[in-house]
Amino acid sequence: MRSPATRLQQLSGEGALAVFARARELERKGRSIVHLELGEPDFHPADLVVEAATRALREGRDRYVAPEGIPALREAISAYLLRTRRLGLPAENVLVTPGCKMALALACLAVIEPGAEVLYPEPSFPIYPSLIRALGAVPVPFRLLENTAFQPDLEEIAAKASPRTTTLVLNSPNNPTGTVYTPAVLERLAALAVQRDWHLIADEVYARIVFGGEYPSICALPGMAERTLLVDGFSKSFAMTGWRLGYVVAPPDLRDGLKLLIMNSFTCAAEFTQHAAVEALRDAGGAVEKMVAQYARRREQFVAGLNTIPGFRCLPPDGAFYAWVNITGTGMSAEALGTLLLEEAGVAGIAGAAFGPSGKDFLRFSFAASSELLAEAVERIRRISARWETKREEISC
Ligand code: PLP
Repeated sequence: MRSPATRLQQLSGEGALAVFARARELERKGRSIVHLELGEPDFHPADLVVEAATRALREGRDRYVAPEGIPALREAISAYLLRTRRLGLPAENVLVTPGCKMALALACLAVIEPGAEVLYPEPSFPIYPSLIRALGAVPVPFRLLENTAFQPDLEEIAAKASPRTTTLVLNSPNNPTGTVYTPAVLERLAALAVQRDWHLIADEVYARIVFGGEYPSICALPGMAERTLLVDGFSKSFAMTGWRLGYVVAPPDLRDGLKLLIMNSFTCAAEFTQHAAVEALRDAGGAVEKMVAQYARRREQFVAGLNTIPGFRCLPPDGAFYAWVNITGTGMSAEALGTLLLEEAGVAGIAGAAFGPSGKDFLRFSFAASSELLAEAVERIRRISARWETKREEISC
């Protein structure tokens, strides 16, 4: 039997999905689980968005459309990025995709050559190194460490860059740390990218979920629009995960190539969801602001609660909806602790190594869950913390 293409061996999956599967198995056996493992909003899109999708279907908007997306949505995305991020990116540069992951895959296919080196943050979304490897390129991690509030270290990035480096992947707010890169860091990253003539893939999927101040996009800085592929979409900011709708905004010289990639793969994103997405961007009822205000309250409550657990240390995230908890004080490995919490306390989180080796002493919990569930999770963790407290006392005796 002929073997599959070797690139399949370069791909890796997502730890969150494996934990979710085990949590569901436990639930089927009658156990109660607080699900904090997936990055999925517990909100649904506003009624107006659902109505727009229903109307579009009734009107027969279920056809093939232009590969780059319907004009109304591309215009709306361009206007939205101007309104929310001060980005002057024309609608012609917008290509609509089924989900942000697809936008990310297209961006990688468009600029990453086999053998190239690609810098990416670590810990981060595990799909970055996986895709980079599958394209025959070399993922080169730069670390986001707790002692620098998880901000990228420019000296490290400059030292890890080589003549083979062609692309820099950024993700702000970062999954899993919640870091929003500061304007000063962005300026230095932009200067480096111009100096070395790199492409940038800026994953801004959490850009609307920030807790204080305006979101700074690297794309707004001089010299960036012509080298940046901005990836965003509707899953997180508009609670539309299952609708599978995202986009990439690309410089003009990449537009035609990206359009060909779309023609050669998915043809176009679904027409009726694109009409509904125009309504989501209009956001007539202010749903995004209300949702983010809820996340802000939950962040406050949950981070404070986690910091009362013996051995836990959690910096409040600047954005996204994840608590990234340093658990070295428990004396347990993150894997063993994650298993104990899931199997015995009924709280599902993810051991940090799923996001890269520097995550090995961390657990990630999503706070896209109700205040009641978050309080219940903290209570369950507190109860079981007696286990590691007793062990630590025995060791110190
Ligand atoms: N980028 C990051 C950083 C994410 O965390 C996720 C989803 O968890 C995605 C991209 C993918 O988004 P989508 O569900 O729209 O494909």
